[in-house]
Amino acid sequence: MDGDSQRSLWNKISHIFGGKSEDNLEQVIMEAREEGDVEAEESNMLLSVLELGETQVQEIMTPRTDIACLTNEATIQEAAQCIQTNGHSRIPVYKETKDNIIGIIYAKDLLTYLVDPNLDPAADHVDKIMRQPYFIPETKSSAELLQEFRVRKNHIAIVVDEYGGTSGLITIEDLLEVIVGDIEDEFDAPREEDVQKINDEEYILHGRTFLEDLTEIGINIESEEVDTIGGYLSLQAGHVPAVNETFAIADWEFTVIEADTKQIHKISAKKINHSVLADE
Ligand code: ADP
Repeated sequence: MDGDSQRSLWNKISHIFGGKSEDNLEQVIMEAREEGDVEAEESNMLLSVLELGETQVQEIMTPRTDIACLTNEATIQEAAQCIQTNGHSRIPVYKETKDNIIGIIYAKDLLTYLVDPNLDPAADHVDKIMRQPYFIPETKSSAELLQEFRVRKNHIAIVVDEYGGTSGLITIEDLLEVIVGDIEDEFDAPREEDVQKINDEEYILHGRTFLEDLTEIGINIESEEVDTIGGYLSLQAGHVPAVNETFAIADWEFTVIEADTKQIHKISAKKINHSVLADE
């Protein structure tokens, strides 16, 4: 974006905030893109910032089942091992059940602790060094949370459902990913794509793939109750489907190819070709 374009986009934006225009921000950004005032990538980023305001934390958090956490009976040494094994630098601590998170261990606190000759990491428990968690409701706006993270200088929150149970965990990285796409930090394990294309009529899907993302490849499934394809197949079956269970939904045949007793991991999706079936 050159200086003139920046001024023209800025003029448009300041008009809106000055109440001089009835256009909404989204329209202005789209217009600026069509007129070549901003690059496609820049306009996507601006639109994502707006999207952040409409995104509830539950849509982007790490779900409860994927949280690496420790019981309050774990020792400091076990916490260090957990950080090393899982690669996360902050580990929630729970008492009795995951629904009762009472603290968070920070890797950098551990370092200070581990070099103190008066302490015994193999015997002392994690509650000696954990910090107070910050709890937020599932429905909180992600833009609001980003602002709070900045003010509080604390970049992790535990998401709770309306009954006080643990629903997930969210960090500033999850929020920034909405704006700038998937951020790979140097310690992140490479993550498999949710959708792997075999050809136009055949895909391998991760169970966590959002139903709304499937519309991009022509799979149109809507649900009020669940968000992911794995969740949808479990809902249809009434149980967690086992490997080789098959479902015909919305012109597609879904076959579970990897699952455990609690979750579907991988699914094959093949388009049902009605003309071939009719010929047979
Ligand atoms: P870290 O580098 O310690 O993993 P980030 O803030 O970079 O922390 O987060 C990277 C991703 O890992 C985010 O999606 C976040 O929700 C997730 N995450 C962070 N801590 C944990 C944890 N203890 N268990 C599971 N996921 C976590």
